[in-house]
Amino acid sequence: MQQVGESTNNASIFGKVGSMGHEQVVFCNDPSTGLKAIIAVHNTILGPSLGGVRMWPYKSEEEALNDALRLSRGMTFKNAIAGLNLGGGKAVIIGDARTQKNEALMRSFGKFVENLNGKYITAEDVGMTDRDMEYINMETDHVGGMPEYRGGLGAPSQFTAYGTYMGMKAAAKRAYGSDRLEGKKVSIQGVGNVAMFLIGYLTKENCEVFVTDIYEDRLKAASSKYKVTVVKPNEIYGLPVDIYAPCALGATINDDTLKALQCDIIAGCANNQLQDETTHGNACVEKGILYAPDFLVNSGGVINVYAEVIGTGTDWTMAQTEQIYGKTLEVLTTSVREKRNSQEVAIDLAMQRIEQIAKVKATY
Ligand code: NAD
Repeated sequence: MQQVGESTNNASIFGKVGSMGHEQVVFCNDPSTGLKAIIAVHNTILGPSLGGVRMWPYKSEEEALNDALRLSRGMTFKNAIAGLNLGGGKAVIIGDARTQKNEALMRSFGKFVENLNGKYITAEDVGMTDRDMEYINMETDHVGGMPEYRGGLGAPSQFTAYGTYMGMKAAAKRAYGSDRLEGKKVSIQGVGNVAMFLIGYLTKENCEVFVTDIYEDRLKAASSKYKVTVVKPNEIYGLPVDIYAPCALGATINDDTLKALQCDIIAGCANNQLQDETTHGNACVEKGILYAPDFLVNSGGVINVYAEVIGTGTDWTMAQTEQIYGKTLEVLTTSVREKRNSQEVAIDLAMQRIEQIAKVKATY
């Protein structure tokens, strides 16, 4: 299995793409709208690649490419472990979603998705809204997470939150012998679409919730709706809590933050939480922190997008998403029993399914 760290410096583009096993990477450049995007198709053995599009003001093109490569690889494992007939893909748009996003930009991105003829299906990720999916849909049908008034099943965030909550409860069961979260202290980094729903589940169960975000309006939205304690972004790692939930961007479990973290469990919705899967997954094992694999616990959203693609409903999504509890418990139990990195245990499970189905397909 390839190990994927945050930096891909000093490697050629084909070197990077090849080392992580990607099938195709598309650079989308449209000077008329200012679109600069990257669509990464990692693996399509199980089906067309599906993964959201993220808009973020990346500091460099390399950072954007690295994010697209890491995120799409994660989608391969996520879709596989969720039991979906989907491969892994992801797209990133370089820019600030708060100031640079508009209809033309979204439709231009939609045209590039359309050019892939269904090999990549897009959906919402960081910086995106239902309305953006509508704009993309004006240029391509290969988009999921459409609003309900357009015949879709809506934004995936609430299902991602439910799955993350299931994963958190499973980790609590493993750590404390009970999945009741009442009275537990939970810190949340990033109060975005998913975290807002997650806070709802946690406060309903009477957890003590600490939140942070880089935007004041997000913190105000959370504290006006729920009983939460707001802390500064740099304070979140050092809080003595039971559970830490990374719900912002990736690579926040790293050498520095692991020194600061004081928690029994890490379970959050962010993709690619471990800066380096081996080093930091192993470090969690050594520190006695139960790490609930990100791509497993945050798969509720993609399950709902898939429900839309295959024409089933949200009851099906909820039933499938509930299974995250059992799968997380299984992965963490194996991890503890074998003293193995939980992310690698989960990747092995996902790869087993991909390899088995590849054999079935080879017999046609
Ligand atoms: P979002 O953009 O709505 O929320 C992310 C929040 O994190 C924003 O409020 C942002 O200001 C904040 N943030 C960014 N950097 C931060 C930092 N350093 N410190 C504190 N806050 C910071 O995105 P979302 O849809 O809620 O997704 C959150 C995470 O979950 C992302 O990593 C995303 O890829 C992942 N995820 C989302 C879904 C989904 O259904 N939306 C599904 C699977 C995974």
